[in-house]
Amino acid sequence: MTENVVSQERTHVDALIVGAGTAGLLAAHELLRRRPHTSLLLVEAGPSLAARLEQPPGGMSGLGGAGLYLGGRLYLGPATLPVLPPVSAPSTLRPILAGDAYQDRARAVDAHFIRLGARSAVRHAPDPRLAEAAARAAALGIEYILSYPTRPLTPEERRSVLARLHAELEQQGAHFAFGWRVVSAARGAAGFTVNLAAEDASGDARRIRTRALVLAPGRYGAEWLVRMAEALGAEVAQLPATFGVRLELPAAAYAPLTDLNPDPRLQMPLTDDAVIKTYATCPGGYVLPITRAGALVASGMPVTLEARRPSTTVAILAQPGVRGAEARWRGGEDLARRLNERVPGRLVVQRREDLRAGQATTAEALAAHSVRPTCAEAVPGALHDIYPAPYWAAFEALLTRIERLAPGVATGDALLYGPAEERFWHFPTSDQLETRIAGLFVAGDAAGQSQGTIQAGVAGTLAGEGVARHLG
Ligand SMILES: Cc1cc2nc3c(=O)[nH]c(=O)nc-3n(C[C@H](O)[C@H](O)[C@H](O)COP(=O)(O)OP(=O)(O)OC[C@H]3O[C@@H](n4cnc5c(N)ncnc54)[C@H](O)[C@@H]3O)c2cc1C
Repeated sequence: MTENVVSQERTHVDALIVGAGTAGLLAAHELLRRRPHTSLLLVEAGPSLAARLEQPPGGMSGLGGAGLYLGGRLYLGPATLPVLPPVSAPSTLRPILAGDAYQDRARAVDAHFIRLGARSAVRHAPDPRLAEAAARAAALGIEYILSYPTRPLTPEERRSVLARLHAELEQQGAHFAFGWRVVSAARGAAGFTVNLAAEDASGDARRIRTRALVLAPGRYGAEWLVRMAEALGAEVAQLPATFGVRLELPAAAYAPLTDLNPDPRLQMPLTDDAVIKTYATCPGGYVLPITRAGALVASGMPVTLEARRPSTTVAILAQPGVRGAEARWRGGEDLARRLNERVPGRLVVQRREDLRAGQATTAEALAAHSVRPTCAEAVPGALHDIYPAPYWAAFEALLTRIERLAPGVATGDALLYGPAEERFWHFPTSDQLETRIAGLFVAGDAAGQSQGTIQAGVAGTLAGEGVARHLG
């Protein structure tokens, strides 16, 4: 159900925020703190908190977006804004907030969450078993990325923070439009004209004029953000593609890692301006084809503890820097397209032993394989000849080391799906996240500024500050 807050009469606001995730909510909070009585509309494609709580768990959109509703681990350690990759980056990608200046803002976001009901104590270090796994990984030359200190919020605390934040913003005069999606926007003489479409089957549409526009659509809205920002004339830089395959292996083989941490992020530096890393591990999950940046790619679907299946899937991705992508890692951004051309509309799956033997997997061999493919529509075939040799060398090096942490990972049966790919963009902005288009702000994960709740909250406060200045 859409909400009638987007009435036919409401046609002008001072500021419109797209996305009521952490970045959008904190932008609203900061804007109203600095400029009370601003007429403000937050447009959120997903449901309100009350409606969200009635839905099956796992939805990533709605009040609180992804992390503040679902994850709730507040990482309180050092970070930069935007996120700096572990490899070379374009010269325009500079930290606009780092060190003490970042930490002060992060503490302020945390303090706000505490006022709203966050009670759990900060954990300063991982539990001993996880710390030992990280130490063993380090001894093998693998960085185990852990996020401590962290404040883990219980589901009740997350609900309290979100409910009270929502109520507080409404008391200050903010309006929320849940169930409405911003589909397009255009620049006008005094700001922007924004087009909204109802998410239900009503076919309702609205047009709203705003003096300032904050785009905070989250990681899953990144491609939409790129299209919107480019259409409005903002600068967008694409970072080199992070590419590889998605592995599917017996859950028991990866359990020594996933029993300690469901998504262990392991990363190994390579000498040629690249890293190879595990990404988006789904214990007992399954492989799902999705379209990203115009290509069909293998994604992993996490499942609840009770719904876990016999295999685990994890992507093994090479992330080259801008220099690496012009040299040894050249061509990575074309791999998904080339593999899609070879097998249109389907993913390719190859057995690990066939990869090693340099031969395509046949339908018969796949049917007899011990690991059952969770993506039934993937076509058995060949991946080995399409990826560059440095990728397979790095893949083998990482898996051989992971084998020491989780025996059976490198030596046992496994399936590989391709292509797998992640794309990240960089949006040059002012220190208050304003693009070169006056009044147009980008905030949060979609803009590459954050990869976590507190960081997204910091981005939101910067954008809120910027909007207040812009409105004067
Ligand atoms: C399953 C999961 C668990 C996580 N757990 C943690 C954790 O424990 N700790 C942590 O620090 N981080 C966690 N994260 C990361 C964290 O979710 C993000 O860093 C954070 O949510 C980013 O905030 P955001 O506001 O940029 O985007 P989001 O929180 O994703 O919010 C974006 C919102 O914008 C809306 N939207 C998108 N496009 C439109 C549009 N066109 N019109 C209207 N609305 C739109 C979406 O519906 C969404 O609600 C987790 C992420 C996921 C996916």
